[in-house]
Amino acid sequence: IRWTEGRGWHDARLTPYAPISMDPATMALHYGQEIFEGLKAYRQPDGSVAVFRPDANARRFQDSARRLAMPELPVETFVEAIDLLVAQDRAWVPGEGEQSLYLRPFMFATEVGLGINRPANEYLFMLIASPAGAYFAKGIKPVSVWLSREYVRAAPGGTGAAKCAGNYAASFLAQAEATRNGCDQVVWLDAAEHRWVEEMGGMNLYFVEGSGDSARLVTPELTGALLPGITRDSLLTIAADLGYATGEVRISTEDWQRGNEDGTLTEVFACGTAAVITPVGSVKSTDAAWTVGDGQTGEVTARLRRELLGIQTGQAPDPHGWMHRIP
Ligand code: PMP
Repeated sequence: IRWTEGRGWHDARLTPYAPISMDPATMALHYGQEIFEGLKAYRQPDGSVAVFRPDANARRFQDSARRLAMPELPVETFVEAIDLLVAQDRAWVPGEGEQSLYLRPFMFATEVGLGINRPANEYLFMLIASPAGAYFAKGIKPVSVWLSREYVRAAPGGTGAAKCAGNYAASFLAQAEATRNGCDQVVWLDAAEHRWVEEMGGMNLYFVEGSGDSARLVTPELTGALLPGITRDSLLTIAADLGYATGEVRISTEDWQRGNEDGTLTEVFACGTAAVITPVGSVKSTDAAWTVGDGQTGEVTARLRRELLGIQTGQAPDPHGWMHRIP
């Protein structure tokens, strides 16, 4: 679907997957007006296909568009594009448990020009799909994380809350640093003090205080610098449904290390569309290193993972109407 100043959205089409050609002066290539989303379609027990909360992704896509001075795609158009593509690709939706069809909607500036005095006046919205296997083929494995003290992902007033290409471009160097230090993932800290925990490269974070039914789940509050994850949001609801207390808080790396030492923080996990829920097993930075709890998958983490995947794969009831059936 294309958007042109003065004309709005037009020329929606469903075409076979193929390369696209672009002018070398296409504005997105120079100034980075590109936003995207990620969501999944799951095969349901009755053979139908359903997508997890596409309306929430559509609204976040609109929020990202506003921040990048791009046109907002109507929620209905976003969901209709998903309906059309997934119906066409129905046979590509795997049938086994956690496997899914990953959907990648994106939009970028197609106007040809080298000026930076105004945003582009032509855009292209596209949606592509790719079958995705289970994130953990051999059972859940806790990840090791690297606290990035040198690099930051986002600052107040910046684009951290938007899902735009540049945020990810800025993260590769820190991810390489994490890998060099033997860690799987980066944990981003705030820009001002390099102290407050924000999120991971592609996932939000949750901390579990206490254990059993009296456990409390807390997640870093949305400061404008981290992505408002749809999994994060869903888990606040699921946790409350299961009777856990929840909270959106400010948590520093010192709070994390101290809580781990005195046993008040029992589990930590990351959550997002790709991995659903991933336990965090160990933490490292230039000045500290610790094992989270016993380094294994905690009981609350495992329970939430089962509940969320149950809803997504249609094995459990969907009390909040999150699953969107493909017509
Ligand atoms: N943070 C970042 C930086 C991400 O890229 C993602 C993945 N979209 C998330 C968090 C998790 O968001 P969601 O639950 O909507 O996938």
